[in-house]
Amino acid sequence: MAEPIEICYLCGMELEGKIDRDHVPPKQFYATNIRKKHNPNLFTLPVHHSCNKAYQKDEDYFVHSIAPLTKESYSGSEIWKDITHKFQRPEGFRIGKMISKEFDSRPSGLYLPRGKVIKRFDAERVWRVVWKIVRGLFFKEHQRLLPENNRLGDALYISKFTILDLRIGEFVAFFLYYSLSSLHRQIYS
Ligand SMILES: [Zn+2]
Repeated sequence: MAEPIEICYLCGMELEGKIDRDHVPPKQFYATNIRKKHNPNLFTLPVHHSCNKAYQKDEDYFVHSIAPLTKESYSGSEIWKDITHKFQRPEGFRIGKMISKEFDSRPSGLYLPRGKVIKRFDAERVWRVVWKIVRGLFFKEHQRLLPENNRLGDALYISKFTILDLRIGEFVAFFLYYSLSSLHRQIYS
C-alpha cells in the first residue's frame, strides 16, 4: 500500500520543499520558564516554511496584544517576562510601541470610570490566529482540512476592545517605558 500523501494543513497542498514543524498552539504561548520547568510535550504539524512564515507576524502580534490581559495568571505572567525581555530588541520594541497605543484612557473623548482604561486589539489578526489553532487541532484529531476562509466561527462576535483596571506601576510603567525610550532616541539620533 502506498504511503499516504502528507499535506500542509495550512494550504492543503502536498508537502515539498522547505518544511517547518509548526507548533499547535504556537510555541510562544508557552513561556521560556514554563517550558523549562514543566517540559511540556508540545505538539507540532509539518507545514511549508512559507505557510508558517505567513502567520508569524500575526502570532507575534497576538501574543504581545493579549499578554497584558493575562498578566495575573501563572502562565501569562511568564509570557509577560518573555515579552518585556524582547522589548530590548528592535523588533520587540516596534511591536511593544504599537501595542502601547492600544491602551486608551479617553476613548473617543469619553471619560471612563475611575481607574479604567480601554485596551483595543485588531480582531481580524487575533481571529486569524485563533482559527489557525482550531484548524491545526482539527487536523490532528481528524486528519481532515478546514479551509482558511469559510470560517465556521464567523458567526461568533469578537469584541475589538476590553476594559482593564489601570493599576499604578503596571500599565503606567509600560507607557512610561515607551515615552522615555522615545525621548532617549530623539536625543541621541
Ligand atoms: Zn502550505
